[in-house]
Amino acid sequence: MVISPKGLRWHQSGHPWVYRDDVPQHEAALSGQIVQVFGPKRQLLGQAFYHAKSKIALRFLTPHDETIGLDFWRTRIEAAIRYRQQVVQETTAYRLVSSEADGLPGLIIDRYGEALVIQTLALGMDRLKSDLVSILLEILKPQAIVERNDSGIRRLEGLEETKTALHGAQPSLVECVEGKSRYLVDVWNGQKTGAYLDQRENRLHACRYLKNRDVSGFRSGFAILDGFCYTGGFSLHLAKEGGCEIDAVDANAAAVELLKQNLALNQLTNIHPIHANLFDHLKAVQQERAGAYDLVILDPPAFAKSKGEVAGAARGYKELNLRAMKLLKAGGILITCSCSYNFSEDLLLSVLRDAARDVGRRAILLEKRTQSRDHPILLAMPETHYLKCFVLQVF
Ligand code: SAH
Repeated sequence: MVISPKGLRWHQSGHPWVYRDDVPQHEAALSGQIVQVFGPKRQLLGQAFYHAKSKIALRFLTPHDETIGLDFWRTRIEAAIRYRQQVVQETTAYRLVSSEADGLPGLIIDRYGEALVIQTLALGMDRLKSDLVSILLEILKPQAIVERNDSGIRRLEGLEETKTALHGAQPSLVECVEGKSRYLVDVWNGQKTGAYLDQRENRLHACRYLKNRDVSGFRSGFAILDGFCYTGGFSLHLAKEGGCEIDAVDANAAAVELLKQNLALNQLTNIHPIHANLFDHLKAVQQERAGAYDLVILDPPAFAKSKGEVAGAARGYKELNLRAMKLLKAGGILITCSCSYNFSEDLLLSVLRDAARDVGRRAILLEKRTQSRDHPILLAMPETHYLKCFVLQVF
């Protein structure tokens, strides 16, 4: 496969993809195969997964002319596991393989205790599923491997949505440990592959604002709103520290049910699950709870899934943050997130600035945080840096 001069310049930036328009001649027969890639002067650039129809024509695997077989994939997976051994602590649930950032394009592997959940989001990787399963069984000996390929992204590669047990029985709920909390994960029906692993470090970190309450002047009855709580990620850790009451809101009924089970599992009574659309809920409580909370967490789903959705997303983020600020006490903490890659850090900051101005509050930026380190950010690929998590103090 030969790429254009423009494609070569892009490739030289280090980005692991080449777009369809930068490949002058396409051969449908090769979709899903590993091809050698050449520059305009026929110099070998490396090997990549090829797709004739996808917008992403080439996903680079290696710059070398090497054999790509079982050993190649095993080495890559082992390297990804070694990296997790350095950066993952205090949890039995984490991302083992994060696609391009681990040199494994289109492959996600999440570990939930003894169960692995995999997603193959590129045609080339999808075809390797049985090799991947045998490598994982050999290295990690999991009790179960679940394929959660029910993601719409697969359609871009001409792949069907599917969900199967690739090894072991179809697991029911898996109990995981994160910090001092235990939580149940529905790896079969839950959102994403069952949980939002990318927020783990932010969840554990949030407790620091609870511990500092004496410093911030909050002594007792610390009131928290966990907006978009899913199955209680942030709330469980905060509640365990004691001395606080948490309203935890999510629009997904199954998530709220699982949150209730997680409360029982952790013997907690200071979390109050609320099944509601957060936009409606914030409106409904705006009078009664104005200035009532010490800490508000906003961890919404991606509002801007494409560039075209950025303007609408800005309105959504602004409304949420503005309403949240109104509910905060003077000096209260807002932990506010966006997992939309298309919505930049600068844009989120400008939305927050506008929201604070509109409600007449002074806000300071205490911290800029991002996704947990088991979701590595590949510098050459900005798309891998998607999660923004800002901590503000609002006066
Ligand atoms: N903070 C969670 C992850 C949140 S993911 C954790 O750490 O585990 C986003 C959540 O927003 C999902 O659980 C989804 O069900 C919920 N959601 C999406 N739209 C919503 C809305 N309009 N109101 C309330 N919850 C919503």
